[in-house]
Amino acid sequence: MSESADPLDRLPAAYRSQVEQVLIPREAIAAKLDVLAAEIDRDYADRELLLVGVLKGAIFVVADLHRRLEVPSAVDFMAVSSYGSATTSSGVVRIMKDLDTEIEGRDVLVVEDIVDSGLTLDYLLKNLRSRRPASVEVLSLLTKPSRREVDLPIRYVGFEVPDVFVVGYGLDFAEHYRGLSDIVTLRPEAYGG
Ligand code: 5GP
Repeated sequence: MSESADPLDRLPAAYRSQVEQVLIPREAIAAKLDVLAAEIDRDYADRELLLVGVLKGAIFVVADLHRRLEVPSAVDFMAVSSYGSATTSSGVVRIMKDLDTEIEGRDVLVVEDIVDSGLTLDYLLKNLRSRRPASVEVLSLLTKPSRREVDLPIRYVGFEVPDVFVVGYGLDFAEHYRGLSDIVTLRPEAYGG
């Protein structure tokens, strides 16, 4: 590929015209996950981790992180639904799918795609801590600090993004765009606007 190649050219043809900009290309995501996995390996040396992926957005982060870790790690998933409008969360959260495993006494790393207001994660962390794990930390690929409503300890952060709606690499709009390898912004027409 020549240096002047348009990053949009790598997207599936069916989605290309709806994408405004490639915000975080796939190579940058992979490089960041290399760095975060190495950090986690150092922090959890001689321990065993349970990765808790938050469905559905975190599927690729969990898969790509899990493959990079040297420390022994297991994977489980939770699905939560947040009451609120399509674009803002209320902090009232319902657990749609709970963990299959007990976490008492275990080292848990919650893996998120994006933390926006933080209300969903705040609820999730309180819920998980009540199960008496040995430790709970959070990794989020993306964070929107300007939108935060609660102060949350996010131990491992991939990228800070501005207050824009992003899709791709697990993140959807109405279940579309999750499978894109890059994190992108959409043209207003893609929202039906
Ligand atoms: P919070 O409770 O932190 O406000 O909401 C977090 C959830 O909102 C995320 O897990 C994600 O589902 C959704 N969300 C927040 N910002 C974005 C965004 O830019 N793009 C997408 N696709 N979802 C987002």
